Amino acid sequence: MYLVTGNLFWINNTKIPNKYSYLSQDIECEVVIVGGGITGAITAHNFTMSGVDTVLVDKNIIGYGSTSASTSILQYEIDNDLIGLKGLRGLESAVKAFKLTKKAVYDIKDMVKELDDDCDFSLTDCLYYSSSQSDFNMLKKEYEIRRKYGFDVELLDEESSKGKFSFPVKVGIYSHEGAGYIDPYRFSHALIRKAVSNELRVFENTGVVNIESKDDYVLLTTHNQFKIKAKKVIIATGFQGKDYIDKKTAILSRSFTIVTKPVSSFEGWFNKCIIRDTESSYTYLRTTGDNRIIIGGEDLDVGGSRSKVSTIANHDYISREKYEILLQKLKSLFPKIKDIEVEYRFNGLFGESQDGLPYVGEYSKLPNYYFNLGYGSNGILYAVLGAKLLTDIYFNKDSEMKELFKIER
Ligand SMILES: Cc1cc2nc3c(=O)[nH]c(=O)nc-3n(C[C@H](O)[C@H](O)[C@H](O)COP(=O)(O)OP(=O)(O)OC[C@H]3O[C@@H](n4cnc5c(N)ncnc54)[C@H](O)[C@@H]3O)c2cc1C
Repeated sequence: MYLVTGNLFWINNTKIPNKYSYLSQDIECEVVIVGGGITGAITAHNFTMSGVDTVLVDKNIIGYGSTSASTSILQYEIDNDLIGLKGLRGLESAVKAFKLTKKAVYDIKDMVKELDDDCDFSLTDCLYYSSSQSDFNMLKKEYEIRRKYGFDVELLDEESSKGKFSFPVKVGIYSHEGAGYIDPYRFSHALIRKAVSNELRVFENTGVVNIESKDDYVLLTTHNQFKIKAKKVIIATGFQGKDYIDKKTAILSRSFTIVTKPVSSFEGWFNKCIIRDTESSYTYLRTTGDNRIIIGGEDLDVGGSRSKVSTIANHDYISREKYEILLQKLKSLFPKIKDIEVEYRFNGLFGESQDGLPYVGEYSKLPNYYFNLGYGSNGILYAVLGAKLLTDIYFNKDSEMKELFKIER
């Protein structure tokens, strides 16, 4: 399966800030993290900040997995909505999950403050809207429950949204807090640089081909036959992590993205907020610090690993058609932005758990393994929460997230 394909924005927009050598000897550590995407980077940052002797390995290059194709919207809203999640996990868990994701946005804000790069992080508002009157009752109910549980939301209708957006908003939930965006590639690298200053050892081009789980340690073998002995292994391999777990954890789809050149105005786009519609395969939009627009969506179900969608090329007619649809959507949403010109087109595999929540924690079938698998469109926020939960588990602390995100649910 192709994890990502196309002209990837983040890695082409920034020169590789650091390079790390491959592992060339046997080593020991307390915790070894497999996977150097944004999840591995956040996890390594947390563990080293807690004084744990940590090693991070990636079979490829830091940040070149799903992280390189991420839209990197940070949003307290979870795909299933508060009402949907309530139906799946109960009211208490649903509210808890929404509050945790909101907190994770501000955790990222605090993390960035301590880094040597601002990572193009910004807090924003967000709009969840429909251009169809038939969604009014559904979104009003969702608005009411969010408001009841303390979220700073406003209900927009056709009248109150006039002058704010250049496209029709029949109904929308406008959230005044709990959203932001970041450059995930720069963030991963900056976190790892910070962790290295706290004694993290990093090895790129170091694939893990085997993990033996012993009573009180794990023994990893790398593709060139070196060994890593550790008390715990943390699997942060993204959508490839599913191989370790003996159940279907995620439904895979492929999501398409285009990134424009910087535009000269954002007329018709109130507060440059993050925008998402209510379509079942929804469209999402954000801006960047250098005034580009990122629009994504047009998801296709992957089906089996041999399906056309699993290995679709960027120049394939299906991909080209998807990019064209996204461009036309963008132009029809913002007819007053006259200089829309596409610079990057890419797509990536996307895994979503049934309830839209991540899988984090221990797994009874694999002693001394920890997992940090942030499936879903809140993957980055889940990585933050997951890293916190795993450090709590490592230090035998209780956590309200343990039950919520457990693998065996
Ligand atoms: C198109 C798209 C849009 C998205 N939009 C958003 C969004 O707006 N907001 C949001 O929060 N999330 C979003 N996500 C999800 C988010 O990007 C992912 O959750 C996140 O990037 C996953 O990061 P990761 O580090 O877990 O995985 P990856 O970035 O895939 O990193 C995993 C790493 O593990 C390494 N690896 C795998 N196997 C091994 C092995 N055996 N040995 C050594 N290394 C190994 C890989 O080389 C890779 O570098 C989006 C994802 C996609 C694809």
